[in-house]
Amino acid sequence: MYSDLNGKTAVVTGASVGLGHGIARRFLQEGMNVVVNYHSDEHRSEAQKLADEFNRDGEPERVVLVQADVAREEGAPKLLSAALEQFGGLDVWVNNAGIESRHPTHELPLDVWEKTLAVNLTGVFLGSKAALAHFVERDRPGCIINLSSVHERIPWPTFAHYAASKGGVKLFSETIALEYAHRGIRVNCIAPGAIETPINAEKFADPDARAQTERMIPLGRIGTVEQVAAAAAWLASEESSYVTGTSLFVDGGMALYPSFERGDG
Ligand code: NAD
Repeated sequence: MYSDLNGKTAVVTGASVGLGHGIARRFLQEGMNVVVNYHSDEHRSEAQKLADEFNRDGEPERVVLVQADVAREEGAPKLLSAALEQFGGLDVWVNNAGIESRHPTHELPLDVWEKTLAVNLTGVFLGSKAALAHFVERDRPGCIINLSSVHERIPWPTFAHYAASKGGVKLFSETIALEYAHRGIRVNCIAPGAIETPINAEKFADPDARAQTERMIPLGRIGTVEQVAAAAAWLASEESSYVTGTSLFVDGGMALYPSFERGDG
């Protein structure tokens, strides 16, 4: 637990399920207020679970649910307004929303390329822009956490659009970390490896596919939402106050070139 997080306010995008949901839950356990973004009505009931769990009768509400598409220009300002109106400020912004799909690159439809870039990269830009503008306008420090991936570094055939978006998130994040460090604004990425969430539930339901992924992880196991949420809590807290412009890999060692494990090569 990080006592400095108590009472602070965060926006978490794509928080209805998966890593965003887990990060929002961990922030709420830390005593934070959270704007829980969900994409569309079909995702609202999942997001609502956080409100049901943490908004308690007779106490100020600590969860507000806000529908927004992060790929659209009006999305991030809507989330920021909710933080300011409901909680009176903003301390931490987590750009988590993301999508992926498999396509051989020579067959990759343009609209899939554009949608992936729009959600995974433009969404990070728009969210960061809203948070930065708020921090600059109030002349106050702040924290931005962007969910990249091990594929900010590792090429991923048939997911070139995804890897391109995550590589973009990495350099975008490093650039704004440098641009705003003098204002006390910290910007970092979390680069997860293979974590059990709805994004890969179908794949990991297949024992062979699961075992194959596990063989690519030096620690030998798929990660949990809670392990990624713990990294987010640390990056949001003062315990990481000297950390900016970095990617924290939460991947069981997946990015360590495991094929070299036995000294081959
Ligand atoms: P997920 O599919 O389980 O959840 C993604 C969330 O993003 C959902 O809540 C979805 O509704 C939301 N979302 C999608 N498009 C949106 C939009 N346009 N506007 C708002 N919300 C939108 O995925 P996850 O595994 O929780 O992944 C979260 C992030 O972590 C993503 O950026 C993903 O690329 C990254 N990541 C995940 C893994 C993993 O193994 N799970 C690994 C590396 C990186």
